[in-house]
Amino acid sequence: MRIADRVKQIKDVISEAALKTGRQPEEISLVAASKTMSVENIREAILAGVDAVGENRVQEMLEKNAAGAYHGIPLHFIGHLQKNKIRHVVGLCNLIQSAGSKQLITQIGRRAAERGLNQDILIEVNVGKESSKSGVMPEEAEETVVFAQSVPGICVKGLMAIPPIAQNGTENRRYFEEMYRLYVDIKQKKYDNVHMNILSLGMSNDFQDAVLSGANMVRIGSAIFGRRVY
Ligand SMILES: *Cc1c(COP(=O)(O)O)cnc(C)c1O
Repeated sequence: MRIADRVKQIKDVISEAALKTGRQPEEISLVAASKTMSVENIREAILAGVDAVGENRVQEMLEKNAAGAYHGIPLHFIGHLQKNKIRHVVGLCNLIQSAGSKQLITQIGRRAAERGLNQDILIEVNVGKESSKSGVMPEEAEETVVFAQSVPGICVKGLMAIPPIAQNGTENRRYFEEMYRLYVDIKQKKYDNVHMNILSLGMSNDFQDAVLSGANMVRIGSAIFGRRVY
């Protein structure tokens, strides 16, 4: 199947899940997770109507950016961000989804403030409390949001999580639901200057469940582009 057809199928699933939860299909953003994918394939996904493109590796992103891969569409950073690469990402990426520690948030803010801009970020939550994963613990999420919003150069837009690898399609639902509760809780407290609007959950294998659980942003790679070859 062509990329355009796959994107259309995915959008149909997202639309149905959105409507089931009383939302409009346009309220859900589809981010194409394009690590390892070619510029041509990324252009095809953009033409097919994805809402943003997300990359994991800074060097790869810079090369593809120079080749025009992301022209005309928001670019997100969704991977592990090393301190010495922050300067390449701030300002280039419309949204850094993987801001998973106070230290990283402080460094992103410093760089953004130096450049006189506000960097939009999501707070990454380690919802499965896995030692292999980045992100703040769920019980630290609220405190981290409040902290981040006080950092000059930072604008917090919401939460992101990558749950444990699931053995079956619905296994991650409890993590999605936990994230949705956190998101709504923090939103309802109406902290000054905190405008939480994004809950980024769900990948190729479980995006339908994520949307049904309340996510309004999904990050999809292999279901759009096919299997990754490293
Ligand atoms: C690769 C990646 C995805 C997409 O994974 P698929 O299973 O291929 O859809 C989503 N989020 C992040 C952070 C990723 O690194």
